[in-house]
Amino acid sequence: MAQSFFGGIHPNDQKAATNKKPIETLPPPARVVIPMSLHIGAPCKPCVAVGDSVTVGQMVGEATAFVSAPVHASVSGTVSAVEPRLHFSGVPVMSVVIENDFNNTPCPDLHPPKDPESLTPEQISDIVKAAGIVGMGGATFPTHVKISSGLGKVDTVIVNASECEPYITSDHRTLLEHPDEVLGGVRILAKLFGVDWVHIAIEANKANAAEMLRLKIAEEKAPAVVDVLQTRYPQGAEKQLCQSITGRQVPPGALPASIGCAVFNIVTTMAIYEAVYQGKPVTHRIVTVSGSGVNEPKNLLCPIGTPISDLLDACGGVKKSTFKILMGGPMMGHAQYDMDAPIGKGTNAILAFCEKEERTVEHPACIRCGKCISVCPMHLQPVFMYQYEQAGMLEELEKANVLDCIECGACTYICPGRLYLVQSFRAGKQKINNARAAAKAAAEAAAKAEAEKAEKKEAKA
Ligand code: SF4
Ligand code: SF4
Repeated sequence: MAQSFFGGIHPNDQKAATNKKPIETLPPPARVVIPMSLHIGAPCKPCVAVGDSVTVGQMVGEATAFVSAPVHASVSGTVSAVEPRLHFSGVPVMSVVIENDFNNTPCPDLHPPKDPESLTPEQISDIVKAAGIVGMGGATFPTHVKISSGLGKVDTVIVNASECEPYITSDHRTLLEHPDEVLGGVRILAKLFGVDWVHIAIEANKANAAEMLRLKIAEEKAPAVVDVLQTRYPQGAEKQLCQSITGRQVPPGALPASIGCAVFNIVTTMAIYEAVYQGKPVTHRIVTVSGSGVNEPKNLLCPIGTPISDLLDACGGVKKSTFKILMGGPMMGHAQYDMDAPIGKGTNAILAFCEKEERTVEHPACIRCGKCISVCPMHLQPVFMYQYEQAGMLEELEKANVLDCIECGACTYICPGRLYLVQSFRAGKQKINNARAAAKAAAEAAAKAEAEKAEKKEAKA
């Protein structure tokens, strides 16, 4: 039975605009921009050159480290540039630009394994890596790393279909329209980790998907159980989900594997099935386009690398009073200033908002109400962390465990003083990481200088 986690909030889920709309295929874009960094970890190295012809699913960027994931062409056509282009993070990133020939030619080298049932866990992990599968709920951590680091340690596998951020319905529609692929992925995960069943976690506001899935599981005797969880943000955060399903708490700074859990997003689970049984790499994803600024909200299946502007155009464009466009949900999404930025593997939503929705005040000020502390699912004290960050007190900020902040934005949402809390914590974490890197570099330089000095002394003697 589902348990609970500390804190959290209950924003209006705002999903009605798209949760009954079937997934539509986006009209093919004229051009896609495939960044070499669509995941957490080392960026890829381009493996095609200007003028090359490419096919759908062909690798265009190879992984350069274990914690990395290759990237593939999402349309067929000709490579017109290999150069830094604007990334959705706001900075230029090395990218492969492909002019679409609109032939949608599949890569001839992609074949599913002859006997998927006989694959070993290591072989499945290799297939997942070659397919470029990452956490497609937004985290984008390479999935083969999660699989390899969890093998032999995990007794509870959770498929995350909670989709707790307001507005987003791409996971919900995936469940309703692709249950066979999802359950195919669930079977692979159960076999990989040697568990009798996999927990599929769904929030109560997706009751039709839970019901449909329960019937399918019973019909097909699939190794899965559906856990309907309270609709409460951030129910879908990994650590909170582990607690809701198992009652176990992930210790600060640790990963779910430390308490025997592995969590996979629902779209990631489907991608694992497609890679293992159909030989398909990650080339497309389903994106919810919604918010008060969008004329016709939709769920769209899009080639990765499509510019945001193509998605908005396919939804009738944005309203004149639109003042903010986000990639991701309203709680954790990132503001976009250039609509040429491409969508990535972790892009589950593009949201546009009209001005009236921004709850800002001219002079944000703390009124010491303590609400931020009561909603923080990580048991942090946002009010104090904010003061430390603003005053540049990095030591105190680190002692207050800001590095455990999951940037869920619950404190910012609830704050009556309208302080930019989560933004302050993101900046604070960056400053701490920069300071750590600078200290490490200084220590290494000092050690090197010391070694050189000793060497010279020895040479003289
Ligand atoms: S919720 Fe906002 S106003 Fe209230 S204590 Fe926290 S920071 Fe201050
Ligand atoms: S953003 Fe960080 S500090 Fe704020 S509620 Fe979420 S975890 Fe807590």
